[in-house]
Amino acid sequence: MKAALLYGARDIRVEQYRRPELQTGMVLLRCRRVGICGSDLHYYNDGHCGTQTVESPFILGHEFAAEVASVADGVDSVKVGQRVTANPARACGFCDYCKAGRGNLCRKTIMLGSASTKPPTNGAMAEYVLVRADQCHVLPDEIDDTLGTMIEPLAVALHAVKRSGGVSGKRVLVLGAGTIGRLVAITARAFGAVPVAITEIVPARRAKAAEGGVDLVFDPDANDFFDKARELTGDGFDVIFEASASIRALRQAFEVIRPGGTIVQIGTVPNEDIPIPALRLMNREFNYIGSQRYGNVFDEAIRLVASGRVDLRPLYSGEFATDESAKAFEVAGDKARSLKVQIQL
Ligand SMILES: [Zn+2]
Ligand SMILES: [Zn+2]
Repeated sequence: MKAALLYGARDIRVEQYRRPELQTGMVLLRCRRVGICGSDLHYYNDGHCGTQTVESPFILGHEFAAEVASVADGVDSVKVGQRVTANPARACGFCDYCKAGRGNLCRKTIMLGSASTKPPTNGAMAEYVLVRADQCHVLPDEIDDTLGTMIEPLAVALHAVKRSGGVSGKRVLVLGAGTIGRLVAITARAFGAVPVAITEIVPARRAKAAEGGVDLVFDPDANDFFDKARELTGDGFDVIFEASASIRALRQAFEVIRPGGTIVQIGTVPNEDIPIPALRLMNREFNYIGSQRYGNVFDEAIRLVASGRVDLRPLYSGEFATDESAKAFEVAGDKARSLKVQIQL
């Protein structure tokens, strides 16, 4: 099969690769379209993502729409020819976390298109990818491949909004207007947050965010940012989502969180110690919590998009053919220009 293999930083090669073989309980998917994620960009630009390093070539891609090509004997949850997306994080299904419905915390999770396993696990930037049957989620006709490819990042946002404990009627601030920040803002609005504000340092991204899905857009570096936040909220925001992965942004969150409010960390911040204002956290009783990938929210994300409650179209920034994969990564890395860049397989 044809596949885009990442050999190291800025070295992606489109080559012939052996097609994965069907195994018990598994489904072979013919990939139709794959999105480039921030983590894919880290692997491409730096040769590593967090602590996970590219040590041998592998296939990136974990946000995708596909068609079921074949299923193992006994699999009846999906049928050949159905269009699906997949939860790329395959939890073990048996540990305490999995049994408690918190499979996103499973220590044995195998993530598609990542170097978190040795050897790395191949992803969907190829003609075919192998997943376990329960990872598949059927896409209805209302969701085309472009939107189907964005169900995975929407699931990240949806899980984060749920982690916050609910946003209905709450004053919400999202830090960072990249894909995940925008998706969190759109989801929070759909769930009744009022108002939904977003901060972003890249002017082009601020302009795009202002076009849809948020009520207010702030430049967090502007001198009057704190004054404006106070003007808008009085004592601060009820819920803040840190989606910029910036330590500076997180410091601002501690300044503008309302007493009793909740800060949700979704951005993958650098792996270093960060000072936490523990005294303020204690006497203002705010919560600082994490949000890791997604709970079991894929079908809910699909319903939100199919019904039109959540519109993913504004995040789409164009597509490239597999042979142009390197170019697709270059364009995806241009923050002024792109949010979600896709590869048509
Ligand atoms: Zn991703
Ligand atoms: Zn598990």
